[in-house]
Amino acid sequence: MSDVAIVGGGVIGLACAFELARRGSSVTVLEREEPGFGASTVAAGMLTPSFEVELTPQSLVELQLDSLRRYPQFIREIEAAGGRSCGYRDEGSLWVSRHRDDELQLDHILRIQQQRGLPARRLTGREVRALEPYVSPRAVGGLLVESDHQVDSRKLVPALRAACEAIGVDVRTGTGVATVERAAGAMELTCQHGGVTSPFHADQVLLAAGVWLEEGLVTPLPKIGMRPIKGQIVHLQGQRLVRHVIRNSDVYLVPRDGGRLLIGATEEEQGFDMNPTAGGTLDLLRFGFEVLPGIYDLDIAEIDVGLRPTFHDHMPVLGATTTDGIYMASGHYRGGVLLAAATAHWMAEIMLTGQAPSEIEPFNFRRFVADQTQQEAAS
Ligand SMILES: Cc1cc2nc3c(=O)[nH]c(=O)nc-3n(C[C@H](O)[C@H](O)[C@H](O)COP(=O)(O)OP(=O)(O)OC[C@H]3O[C@@H](n4cnc5c(N)ncnc54)[C@H](O)[C@@H]3O)c2cc1C
Repeated sequence: MSDVAIVGGGVIGLACAFELARRGSSVTVLEREEPGFGASTVAAGMLTPSFEVELTPQSLVELQLDSLRRYPQFIREIEAAGGRSCGYRDEGSLWVSRHRDDELQLDHILRIQQQRGLPARRLTGREVRALEPYVSPRAVGGLLVESDHQVDSRKLVPALRAACEAIGVDVRTGTGVATVERAAGAMELTCQHGGVTSPFHADQVLLAAGVWLEEGLVTPLPKIGMRPIKGQIVHLQGQRLVRHVIRNSDVYLVPRDGGRLLIGATEEEQGFDMNPTAGGTLDLLRFGFEVLPGIYDLDIAEIDVGLRPTFHDHMPVLGATTTDGIYMASGHYRGGVLLAAATAHWMAEIMLTGQAPSEIEPFNFRRFVADQTQQEAAS
């Protein structure tokens, strides 16, 4: 029996476990595979708030900025507790323009950064190449966004697990949760581990199961339309070509330690298919080559594929559900790594105080249930 059982050991489940345990709760994480099996270790790890302000609700932008501000402290606490590096880097990202359209886009991003009070600097093509000599000579300008930081998600997840375990979180791997229901006075979960089924009890349950929220997990909650958005990302290996994350509107290139360079990422509606494809790889390499021709000589180390957990409005659900004792932190789509710090903070607030602060209200579970009720009434 724990105060809190968390279903799913991705970046969201582990970050929430760490924060709840730090505040004194006894927490068990139930993970069907290994922590990071899902999207979390595939992520490029960019900590970049959206620039598509016309398409992104203001409440989500505010949450992203809130999380970005919390990140340095979040990292310090994880590294201090567990003794492992999260691969946090603060070089910023460098947007590169190829033509007039790109130049106008960079002016637009600069204005948004300035409105947010975040540092950014326009560069000429010559200044871009002075900063990153391997960028294509066709680059006509750039924008250095110093506030964009990054983590190495393949380091962050093990670091989070180590931090959780160091402060007493019970992380159970190979333990799938099949059902969650309210039993007398507590929540009852049915767990499957090594072919054996056994019950587990907790006062509260937090669902952080990524795209599998409504797949193979039976709960009293109505279905609210979780769907996977497939993302392919190519890992190259060889000479280190850049220090900054390099971006344009088609592609991003993320340098990691040891001469690794990630080129991402596709966005595809392919259900639960996780096969890398020739077309996805071709697009990423072509766009990557256009901005950084030196990738031609690098080795292809791997092609990684992940499924981004997504609701139809592209906003996460954070908070209580329609069943007492069941909470949800799911649907972080393209931003789960960035949003992990704020998600952990606010979920701990909500679960420990029973109150949802006004800034988190737009991410409530009820918005989907209200949609369904209206559709049923109309039909
Ligand atoms: C190619 C790509 C690039 C990305 N780049 C970025 C980026 O640069 N920045 C950023 O912020 N975000 C990025 N993302 C998005 C980010 O990866 C996701 O938003 C985030 O990882 C979601 O985390 P999660 O913990 O909700 O889900 P997941 O990481 O998928 O974790 C869910 C976990 O739940 C477990 N589970 C599922 N069902 C059960 C069950 N019944 N019982 C027990 N365990 C269960 C799974 O095994 C899994 O480990 C990217 C995603 C992709 C695919």
